[in-house]
Amino acid sequence: MSDMKKAVVIGAGIAGLITARMLADYYEDVYVIERDEFPEEPSNRQGVPQSFHPHRVQPRGALILEHYFPGYNEELIDLGAISSHDERIVVSNRYGTLVNKEDASSFKIASCSRALLEWVLRKRIQDISHISFLTSVEVTGLMVSEDQGFITGIYTKERNGEKREEQLPADMVIDASGRSSKLIRWLDQIGLSVPEPEVLKVSLGYSTRYYKIKSSIPNEFVMSDSDPEQDIRASIFMRTEDDITGLILFNAGGETYPSTQAEEFQEQIKHLFASDKIVKLMEQLEPLHGPRGYRISESVRQHFELMEDWPAGLLVLGDAFCSFDPIHGQGITVAAIEAETIGKCLEAQRMHPDPQFEREVLLRMQKAIEPAWWLSSVADMRWKGVEHGGSFELKGVNFAQKYINLFTKQAMKKADQEQDNHLFFMQFLMNALILPPSKYFNSDVLNMILNDDGSEEELELRAELGVQDPDLFQQRLDEILPSFELEYDEQIKKLLESLQPAMS
Ligand SMILES: Cc1cc2nc3c(=O)[nH]c(=O)nc-3n(C[C@H](O)[C@H](O)[C@H](O)COP(=O)(O)OP(=O)(O)OC[C@H]3O[C@@H](n4cnc5c(N)ncnc54)[C@H](O)[C@@H]3O)c2cc1C
Repeated sequence: MSDMKKAVVIGAGIAGLITARMLADYYEDVYVIERDEFPEEPSNRQGVPQSFHPHRVQPRGALILEHYFPGYNEELIDLGAISSHDERIVVSNRYGTLVNKEDASSFKIASCSRALLEWVLRKRIQDISHISFLTSVEVTGLMVSEDQGFITGIYTKERNGEKREEQLPADMVIDASGRSSKLIRWLDQIGLSVPEPEVLKVSLGYSTRYYKIKSSIPNEFVMSDSDPEQDIRASIFMRTEDDITGLILFNAGGETYPSTQAEEFQEQIKHLFASDKIVKLMEQLEPLHGPRGYRISESVRQHFELMEDWPAGLLVLGDAFCSFDPIHGQGITVAAIEAETIGKCLEAQRMHPDPQFEREVLLRMQKAIEPAWWLSSVADMRWKGVEHGGSFELKGVNFAQKYINLFTKQAMKKADQEQDNHLFFMQFLMNALILPPSKYFNSDVLNMILNDDGSEEELELRAELGVQDPDLFQQRLDEILPSFELEYDEQIKKLLESLQPAMS
C-alpha cells in the first residue's frame, strides 16, 4: 500500500466492484457509494435494471476478474453456476451451424445470473478491511478546489431516513455509476463542459425469458446470429445457476422489437437460425414466467480524454464512459480492462509521478474502448436505421461488414467440410477482446479468405477493397480501417502463443 489516502468509487455495479478491489492495492481507504441497499441474497437490484437479463463475461474480462478475485469462478460454481469446462459453444448463422468444444471452453467462465456474479464479487471485497460501503446513499455532486483544478471529494444525500446531505473528502473520485451517470451535469455545475460524444442510434430491443430445466440438457451456449437483410433476429441461449436457462431475443433498428408476450415470443423462436436446436431444447424446459423486455435507444461513447481542463483527482469508467449494445457482451470486459489500466497507471505513478496522470489514464482507457465500440457498431449498423453520430468518423464500417461476411462464410465452410474450427476461433478471440483486430484484419488473412470462388460475399468485398494487386492489400487495409491501440499485455501475449496450435 502507498501513501495515497482516500479513494471514492461511485456505484457498486460490476465496474465499481472491480475498481474498488484494484484501488485497495493503492489507497489506505476506499469508499464505495451506492444508492441501493444490497439484497441479503443474490438477487436483482433496482439500481441495475439490466440485471434481470443474462450477463456473460468475455474471456478477457474473466482473466482480469481472476486476477483481482482469485478463485471467483470456483466460488460461483460452488453456488450453482455452470462451469465452462465441458461447455459446447453452438453458433448458427446464414452459413450453417458450428459446434465448438475444445477451443472456446479453454477459458474459465462460469455461466450464472448477473445477481450471483455481483454477489460473489461484492462479498469478496466486503471482507477487505479498508474498503467501506455506504449504501442507500446517492452521490449528488463533486467537491472542487478553489482554482477548479482538483476534485476534492463528493456531495452525498441519504435516500432513507433523514435524507441527510453530507460531504466526503477524497484524494481520488472514480465514477462507475453506469448509464445513468450524472457526471456531465456535475462537471457542468463546476464550470466544465464536455466534448460532444459519439452516439450510436441503435434502437435495440431485448426480450428475455427464463425456463426451468425439467430433465437434463447438454451444457451448451447457443448463439444464433442475426441477419438484418432477412429480418432475422439474434438469440442467445445460456444456462444460469439453479437449473435455469435464459433465452434472449434481440434486434436493433427499432422497426420492430422482440415480443414480450409469451405466445408471440415462442413463435418468434421459430424464425431464428438456431430454431430447430432451440425448439428441441424447449421440450426439456418449462417457462418460469413471461418474457421481459429491455430497450436502449442509444449507445454513447464519451471523449473525456479530450478535455484539457479535466480536473485532477477524477476518473470515470464502465458504462459511464462508454456504453455498448449488450448483445455483444462487452460491457463487463471493457470495464475490467479499464480498471486494470487505472491500476497499471497507479503503479507507474508511484515511480514516476505524472502531473497529467488523469488525462493519460483517460486516453489509455479510450484505446481500450476503441475495438469493442467499433466491432459492436460495425455489427449493429447492418440493421436499417442504426446510425453513428457525433463529430468522430467511424472508419471502414462497410468494408469490415463485407470482410466479416466472407470470413464467417469461410470459417463455417472449413468447420463443416474439414472439421477445422480455427477460423471460427480467431473470430471468437477477437470478439472476446483477446486477439488484436490487426491479427484478423490483415493482408495474410485477406489473401486466405479471397479464393476467387465468384461468391456474392467475395465480389462485394473486392468491390469495397478497390485494389486487385495482393501487394497493395495491406496498404489499402491501413487506409480503410482504424488503427487500434488497445494494449495486449504479457499475459494476453502468452495466452495467444499458447493458443497458436489451435489458431494455425
Ligand atoms: C440488457 C443488458 C444485458 C447486458 N448483458 C451483458 C453481458 O452479457 N455481458 C457484459 O459484459 N455486459 C452486459 N451488459 C452491460 C453491463 O451491464 C455493464 O456494462 C456492466 O455492468 C458495467 O456497468 P457499470 O458498473 O458501469 O454500471 P452498472 O452495472 O449499471 O452499475 C452502476 C451502479 O451505480 C449505482 N449508481 C448510479 N448512480 C449513482 C449515484 N448517483 N450515487 C450512487 N450510486 C449510483 C447504481 O445503483 C448501480 O449499482 C448488459 C447490459 C444490458 C443493458
